[in-house]
Amino acid sequence: MAGRRLVILGGGFGGLDVARAVGRSRAAREHWDTVLIDKENFFQFNPLLPAVAVGAVETRHIVYPLREMARQRHIRFYKNKALHIDLERREVRLHNDRVEPFEVLVVAVGSVTDWYGVPGAAEHARPFKTLVDAMHLRARVVEQFEMAEQAETEEQRRRLLSFAIVGGGVTGVEVAAELMDMARDTLMPRYPSLHPPDLSLTVLEATDRVVGTARPEHSAYVLKFLERRGVNVRLGARVTRVAPHRVELEGGTVIEAFTLVWTAGVCPPSVVRDLPVQHVRDGRVRVDPMLRALDPGGNAIENVYVIGDCAASLRSDGTFQPALSQTAIAMGTHVGAQLVERARSRSVAPFRFRDVGYIISLGKHSSVLDLFGMRLSGKLAWLTWAAAYLVKMVGFRKQLEVGIDHITHLFFTHDSSQILNRREVLSDDELNLSLGDAVGPRT
Ligand SMILES: Cc1cc2nc3c(=O)[nH]c(=O)nc-3n(C[C@H](O)[C@H](O)[C@H](O)COP(=O)(O)OP(=O)(O)OC[C@H]3O[C@@H](n4cnc5c(N)ncnc54)[C@H](O)[C@@H]3O)c2cc1C
Repeated sequence: MAGRRLVILGGGFGGLDVARAVGRSRAAREHWDTVLIDKENFFQFNPLLPAVAVGAVETRHIVYPLREMARQRHIRFYKNKALHIDLERREVRLHNDRVEPFEVLVVAVGSVTDWYGVPGAAEHARPFKTLVDAMHLRARVVEQFEMAEQAETEEQRRRLLSFAIVGGGVTGVEVAAELMDMARDTLMPRYPSLHPPDLSLTVLEATDRVVGTARPEHSAYVLKFLERRGVNVRLGARVTRVAPHRVELEGGTVIEAFTLVWTAGVCPPSVVRDLPVQHVRDGRVRVDPMLRALDPGGNAIENVYVIGDCAASLRSDGTFQPALSQTAIAMGTHVGAQLVERARSRSVAPFRFRDVGYIISLGKHSSVLDLFGMRLSGKLAWLTWAAAYLVKMVGFRKQLEVGIDHITHLFFTHDSSQILNRREVLSDDELNLSLGDAVGPRT
């Protein structure tokens, strides 16, 4: 294997497609000496993360082992974290001081939670980006019900059953809908001391509508849907400070929430933000129509591609492509095709993205979508959502597992077992809260 060194950083939606395209082509396999590097050894299917957070879909069913893909596609895989990219020396420094030289680099490391510099947010709010975040949230919600069941006063019960989500974008409303389903329909009937008025779930959105990227009528639909389910949605609610169990809004309003989930936005990880290239305001790297990074002078850097959530690719209307899985897949497919064609000494046309629309899942058997010009809401939209994401799952095994989860969830309620220990889901301060028996013995 004496090919030219191709390093792909990140095996998510974008990076995985590059790796698969190169591995699928014999010419490309012989031309490139490919190594895929990811800090995790699995691919995670984010759109189903809200469903995982309530157990509607099993945790392992939305992950796919990258090593299996690497073996099938005859490329190398390293589980390691990229810490620094040196564009001059053309090498990547990894977590254990390992240095990976490259001739061609594809940066596809996705995004991290953007706390927007709000004081206290990173310390006291919970991110919602990873499987571990989803597993913790589920266990924490159940723990709160267990604590509330033993509370002595109505005030304690209400305090323990208060939740807030910062950010009314797609992820925020999806998490809100799923949490409400689990809390109201599964948990509430299983805890005899608790009653629906004890529960509160608030979505805080800074702009004047939820899911601002959707059509206005769909934003209105989602708002009404959530309110009917008992979610309190506050529009124009800009968070200025977060403290344990409370959020302060611009104007001085304080919202009490025992658990605060932050889904307000994302930005690229530091390894991307630190690159000496052109960035847009949120830190994404500006790329040319071939998805190559632009240097500070606006010139494309040969052989350095940036794709997915960390790329700012200009659209014809002057805005940038949204940070979505379909964008990342399209970019990954394009860079994959470029690398395959380069192995055959051919080139491809510049990147053009065709937006096929969106699907927003609203919990158990309800969705709203605008896909290929078709607009739907309700159960039929949910069926389309389930089918569309089944098709997009990586590998037949995962499609089967998630399909069975969906069918099972048609007939059964959520599993309310709390697998993670309370020490794993409560902070030290919360473990020491003096709410009488409400917080239970310190185990
Ligand atoms: C909860 C949630 C729900 C979502 N729902 C939808 C949806 O319904 N529809 C939709 O279109 N989009 C959705 N998205 C957005 C979508 O997941 C992203 O736009 C998409 O994953 C971006 O793809 P990517 O390849 O850029 O990054 P990712 O898919 O995030 O992949 C990045 C990869 O890089 C790895 N990595 C990160 N840092 C490093 C490092 N320093 N070194 C090595 N490896 C690293 C990560 O482990 C990861 O595997 C959702 C996102 C979340 C979090």
